[in-house]
Amino acid sequence: MWETKSVKTKSLEILPVNKVFNDEQQNEFLVKCPHCKNIRGIDKEGSLRNLGGEQYQDNLCDGWYELSPNAKIVNTIEEL
Ligand SMILES: [Zn+2]
Repeated sequence: MWETKSVKTKSLEILPVNKVFNDEQQNEFLVKCPHCKNIRGIDKEGSLRNLGGEQYQDNLCDGWYELSPNAKIVNTIEEL
């Protein structure tokens, strides 16, 4: 199923994100939004460990997600 970027989620659930991609060039972590499946960037504030448990709201779909404290760094964006 393919959803466009304009789709807003009705879910109020805070879904966990377990995988991140380390984007060295943009100096941010990339995650796949668990609601709309778009790739989203989050600011690197120190290490991944510091960000564990942080909650974010996707400004595309308005869905919330939480970065898992045990999130795994993947090697390619396709693995997210
Ligand atoms: Zn989303």
